[in-house]
Amino acid sequence: MIKKEVLAAINEQINAESYSAYMYLSMAAYFEEMGLSGFGHWMKIQYQEESAHALKFFNYLTERNGKVALKAIAQVPVDFNGIVDVFEKTLAHENHVTQLIDHLMDVAVAANDHATQSFMKWFVDEQVEEEANVEKILATLKLINGQGNGIFMMDREMSMRVFVDPNAAV
Ligand code: MG
Repeated sequence: MIKKEVLAAINEQINAESYSAYMYLSMAAYFEEMGLSGFGHWMKIQYQEESAHALKFFNYLTERNGKVALKAIAQVPVDFNGIVDVFEKTLAHENHVTQLIDHLMDVAVAANDHATQSFMKWFVDEQVEEEANVEKILATLKLINGQGNGIFMMDREMSMRVFVDPNAAV
């Protein structure tokens, strides 16, 4: 049986992943408004990924007979100040999520919960990739420096992102 402090922390994380999903969907809407459908597509994939993260925690609790308790999702930002602002907010958010994941791992370690520690390893690795992806996008955006041709080409590249479902059977 899963300990109650681990259960509470995972339920918090389901909320945090759901917030992330909703925030990226809001960013997708912003890009669609700007006519940047490739950037919008990239953010919609990000939305799918975060929803899949929430579901991964959900499925884990179900498997361990822990009660899933969904909470209200906080208001996400709806106004942004350009492409760079969106990705700076994305990076700041992913840095924050990394702290949450580290905290959850700390809770599992303190509770001597080896199963949750093993499960959490996937998320620890995932956060390294999330931060690296966004840092790379920000570096490219700085190189382009708002130049139209560069944004146009990047929008096409962003449109090619493919969703890989981490919950799909392998
Ligand atoms: Mg996530």
